[in-house]
Amino acid sequence: MILILQDNVHAGTPAFGTIMEYLSRRPGIETRVHEVKGAQQTLTEIYLIGDTAALDAEELAELTGVDRVVRVSREYRVLGRHQDDFRPSGFEYNGVDFDQDGFELFAGLCAVDTREHVDRTFAALAAQGLRCARMGAYKPRTSPYAFQGHGAACLPFVFESAGRHGIRVVAMEITHEKHIQEIHDALTAIGRPTGVMLQVGTRNTQNFELLKAIGRQQEFPVLFKRGFGITLEESLNAAEYLASEGNQRVVFCLRGVKTGLGDPHRNLVDFAHVPVVRRLTRMPVGIDPSHSVGRRDVGPDGIEDIHHAAVQGVIAGANLVLVDFHPAPAKALVDGPQALRLEELPLFVEDMQIAREAYLKRRAAHERARQADATSPVA
Ligand code: PEP
Ligand code: MN
Repeated sequence: MILILQDNVHAGTPAFGTIMEYLSRRPGIETRVHEVKGAQQTLTEIYLIGDTAALDAEELAELTGVDRVVRVSREYRVLGRHQDDFRPSGFEYNGVDFDQDGFELFAGLCAVDTREHVDRTFAALAAQGLRCARMGAYKPRTSPYAFQGHGAACLPFVFESAGRHGIRVVAMEITHEKHIQEIHDALTAIGRPTGVMLQVGTRNTQNFELLKAIGRQQEFPVLFKRGFGITLEESLNAAEYLASEGNQRVVFCLRGVKTGLGDPHRNLVDFAHVPVVRRLTRMPVGIDPSHSVGRRDVGPDGIEDIHHAAVQGVIAGANLVLVDFHPAPAKALVDGPQALRLEELPLFVEDMQIAREAYLKRRAAHERARQADATSPVA
């Protein structure tokens, strides 16, 4: 159960104290207080855990300072979409809104290699009017002998270049909690010219200690990848670790699942789950066609499989596309075979716009049909 407090009630106010005192007298109930930062205001929510069945929701709703009471199902208490749950979805970060109605493209290098490639990539994105990007500094690799990423050493020039090209948010995977501090320090040292969305990779989807550490900080939002060998439910529960520790600013990203049945693609594309995640949770939903498809093959229609897969996710309502681009894919140190060339970026952007418009048209058509249904006389 969640108590959503009125906007002037928060820790330290008398009404908050009275509510907490009331709750402390209920046996078997534990409380967790979350501050939810919205674009306009910060709201306080009290999550009640334990024997909530015995609580009287109407009585709670009448306590001074309580705005609303939401009864949640057991699953995904914080990030889930529950009955009569009108909590807003999404968040604003560094001037960019992320929610289930928005759409952003995060294109860029799988792994940072040279300064020149980073700069050329950001310049190409800026030329398309894009304000988000992907850049990998810390790479989790299958082989210990493979390039592991430049790590903290590349952060100053990546952030400086991003800022210079007007990129506001860079998605960057971290593989250890100490990377949070490294990113914070590097951004601070050069005056925060850009922002970072911490990426949790598929290999770390169930690294619960890493998730808790990322969840405990409020500075950076999170791009959370679905686990490639676990169920969707298990991945959604793992995302909930971030929120249960206090960070609700989470984008959930589908990236294909590992099974030979996806051959010849690197993974089996799972973008039919876009509406499922949107229905079960309030998180914006991303798709990663590059790691799903894994190769630059072209169909007989002249369109690359990566484009086709991306369009499938966008036309189903995806809010974010994470995609690998590289100025010289043959020279990429990681995932060159799936990187699209920078010259292809304008076409990719156009293709995504076509799919996004088609999604919006589909949504409007369905809405019209629903309204016609609701107003037609019952036979
Ligand atoms: C990546 O985005 O570079 C990456 C490693 O993705 P995933 O964790 O989905 O494999
Ligand atoms: Mn990669």
